[in-house]
Amino acid sequence: MKTYDYLIIGNGIAGVTAAETIREHDASGTIAIVSHEPHVLYSRVLLPAYLKKRIPREKVFLRTQEDFNIRRIDCYLNEAVVFADTARKQIDCESGFSLGYNKLLIASGGRVRDWEHCNGQGIYPVRTPPTLPEVKKADGEYNATISRSRSARSNGVYRLQTLDDADVILRLLPHLQSPLVIGASFIGLEFLEILTLNNTPPKVVVRDTHFLRRLLDRAGGEMLQARFEMKGISVECQQEIVRVFLEEGKVHIKTSLERDFSSDAVFLGIGIQRNMEFLAGSGVAINGGGVETDEYLRTNVENVFAAGDAADYMDVIAKKRRMVGNWTHAFLQGKAVGRTMAGKPELFKSVPAYSITNFGFQITAVGETDDALETFVQFDEERNRYARFFIKEDHIAGAALINKFTDKPHVARLIETQSSVRDFRAELRDPLFDIQKIPIVE
Ligand SMILES: Cc1cc2nc3c(=O)[nH]c(=O)nc-3n(C[C@H](O)[C@H](O)[C@H](O)COP(=O)(O)OP(=O)(O)OC[C@H]3O[C@@H](n4cnc5c(N)ncnc54)[C@H](O)[C@@H]3O)c2cc1C
Repeated sequence: MKTYDYLIIGNGIAGVTAAETIREHDASGTIAIVSHEPHVLYSRVLLPAYLKKRIPREKVFLRTQEDFNIRRIDCYLNEAVVFADTARKQIDCESGFSLGYNKLLIASGGRVRDWEHCNGQGIYPVRTPPTLPEVKKADGEYNATISRSRSARSNGVYRLQTLDDADVILRLLPHLQSPLVIGASFIGLEFLEILTLNNTPPKVVVRDTHFLRRLLDRAGGEMLQARFEMKGISVECQQEIVRVFLEEGKVHIKTSLERDFSSDAVFLGIGIQRNMEFLAGSGVAINGGGVETDEYLRTNVENVFAAGDAADYMDVIAKKRRMVGNWTHAFLQGKAVGRTMAGKPELFKSVPAYSITNFGFQITAVGETDDALETFVQFDEERNRYARFFIKEDHIAGAALINKFTDKPHVARLIETQSSVRDFRAELRDPLFDIQKIPIVE
């Protein structure tokens, strides 16, 4: 068995950035990346643009195999890690292949949440699968178990997490007739635009009262909804799905409001869960579904680190542990953990931000957007501009911005420095107030 100085699980942006950063600081240490996916690093953020046919497939890739050769980083692709054995300091893969390590980074990201209504969708195997209830197929009804099968799609249900998922959806688009989107996440919004540009505006079923419920208040959600309806999308809010079944090649969905939907393709935008089944029995602490780390991205097990979407890290700005699912954050954590692993400890400090442009709306979430906090909303209906500020004590902890992208850097600085907004409480509700007038106090 080969042993590496640095072994990284996951070749997403966090894992690859960490590997490259380690190489910058350690010219001779051996480095390897193990990934379940068959591709070298590509941008998940660009997958929607690829499906909207705004960029060709090759533009999605961010590295070539040659880039790794030059940096002497070994890549083991198509290998699913099934167990991280921290006692023996080795990882075991599904294929039977094992590698040893001195330092291990968990950068295994996430996958679309298992959907309790549909089996056959789990992507990553576990070492000892839990005993699954027997699959009942009466009336073609889906079994409500979580399958550990590799198949990422089946029976008319589609997810968008990987390039392979995107390739499947791209081939499907010309044949679509009556698509249905489930969920009002950011990926759900991407599906709405992809399908509308395909001239098949979908129906969308949303469990909450409005779109992006935790981020926007009702007025903000309804502003988005009005735009979607203008584009021919039919929106069904406050609908809990109670039954899903397959009949005559169509997926049928029943909701709590006794509404029935049938569709030739269902697209899930229901959020992600972290890939960490391989940590069962490893002793690495899991918190809230992610790998628990301190502010240096170190886990509770010596020489084991975590970064990117997989990490439940100690946020020194919010002063609490949190998980984040965004690209820039994963990149910055990859950089910080790479330095720490190479012996130059770096405290991770950053305000996370996620931005998308959807049907002409530029939507940004920055910082801690926890709707249990006190919130102040600025809404300029005429100009479709919206801001919601999440306030903790006397400072801004997070914000949702629509069509106010230029405010984002200033808001991020206010969050980072925890500058007081005590004297601006009335202005935070005034749609004409310029947020940049609140001074940054270092
Ligand atoms: C369609 C889409 C659009 C997005 N758009 C945006 C956006 O506009 N802005 C934004 O900020 N963020 C966006 N995101 C989120 C962003 O892409 C992620 O936050 C980011 O990719 C996380 O990077 P990561 O390296 O932590 O994990 P990932 O990119 O998820 O990489 C994890 C890697 O680990 C591998 N892996 C997992 N388990 C195992 C295992 N057991 N064995 C071996 N390998 C394993 C996986 O195969 C994968 O290659 C988007 C995501 C998607 C899917």
